[in-house]
Amino acid sequence: MNVELISIGDELLIGQTVNTNAAWMGAEFSLRGGNVVHTTVIQDTEEAIIDAVDRALTRVDVVILTGGLGPTKDDITKHTLCKYFNTELEINRDVLEHVKSFFTSRGKEMLDVNVQQAALPKKASILKNDVGTASGMWFEQDGKVLISLPGVPYEMKYLMNRWIFDKLGKQFPMTAIYHQTMHIQGLGESFLAERIEDIENEMRQENIGLAFLPSPGQLRLRFTSEVNPENKELIAGFMRQIEERLPRYVYGRGKEQLNQVVGELLASRKATIGTVESCTGGSLATEIVGVPGSSAYFEGSFITYSYDLKESLAGVSMADIKKHGAVSEEVVLQMARGGQKMLGVDYCLAASGIAGPGGATPGKPVGTVWIAMASPEKVIAKKFLFGDHRERNIRKTVLTALNLLRCELLEL
Ligand code: ATP
Ligand code: MG
Repeated sequence: MNVELISIGDELLIGQTVNTNAAWMGAEFSLRGGNVVHTTVIQDTEEAIIDAVDRALTRVDVVILTGGLGPTKDDITKHTLCKYFNTELEINRDVLEHVKSFFTSRGKEMLDVNVQQAALPKKASILKNDVGTASGMWFEQDGKVLISLPGVPYEMKYLMNRWIFDKLGKQFPMTAIYHQTMHIQGLGESFLAERIEDIENEMRQENIGLAFLPSPGQLRLRFTSEVNPENKELIAGFMRQIEERLPRYVYGRGKEQLNQVVGELLASRKATIGTVESCTGGSLATEIVGVPGSSAYFEGSFITYSYDLKESLAGVSMADIKKHGAVSEEVVLQMARGGQKMLGVDYCLAASGIAGPGGATPGKPVGTVWIAMASPEKVIAKKFLFGDHRERNIRKTVLTALNLLRCELLEL
């Protein structure tokens, strides 16, 4: 089943509203086995609507419009569809009753324009909207389906879930998709592919899809298959194999995030953490504090961008900064140790690097980052070469530091 989405609204075109309706539908259809092959965003004009509908009906099985169904004058979708399908509006008694009770139950007076919400195209099947006053409309023509829905996201979702997915499923064969995701830090796409090549081959033989979805500093692996209990078990097995093979890199599944995972580990050990940050400028602390309840383990940070503050706050030796440079093993080790002592924490993460675009020195290109971690037992430092993009370098540093701590807490 091929689907085209047409989102109607000037506010979408000028960027005032983000087209979350299209994103939601795309995600839902892909899970349910439908193919969204086009999404179109158009103005609130008759011409634009007719043009988009005309094109869409030539190339897909199902067209879904959202927006422009309100009672105000600027909402013209309903009238335009009447014209397109050569039909007219008539008052739908059930809908009128519903609209009336919608207002009375909220203690509001019903206006004349609201009565118009019950005027619906004769040729359409009406999809009752229990959470609003604009009904969904289902048209059929030459074996194709066109559905018009309100733009308000929760009303659109209600109508899709209550009526439309079922109704479409009966009319067009759809194979639902089962999916799982796994999160990886510290291993690039191609390196990961090499490490799990044999597992990936086995998965292909079982018709299980594997997608690599990279973002700065981390990677999602998405496993997909047709829905059946056998596939669920197979996927669970493959995920376990990958976790067992790469425990230092695989940090979570599904909705889990690295800051949460690390936070839970710290909380369960009743351990505290602080950071001493140069190139990340506080981003590491921000990431840690992004987890509700982080006050249970996060004590605070020093942002030591300058040489002087590295010395005065974290106790780094100025002689060592001058001798080795601020981006060096010696300095970052002292930052972590100094922070651990001065902040009075069990674990301290420190980072010093060249985020770019300027600042490279001979032997230290942009993207060179030293990360250190002080624990109650030891202090370690590692050097990384990230890349030449400032924001991404900062993000990679943050995630790498957190994963370093995760590995330490889990003794990996
Ligand atoms: P209403 O009865 O509220 O007028 P409507 O069907 O006419 O409903 P619109 O006027 O187009 O819908 O939009 C109503 C609300 O829904 C607006 O706040 C709008 O920003 C939001 N909205 C519309 N389309 C989308 C979309 N594609 N994604 C996210 N939000 C949307
Ligand atoms: Mg409107």
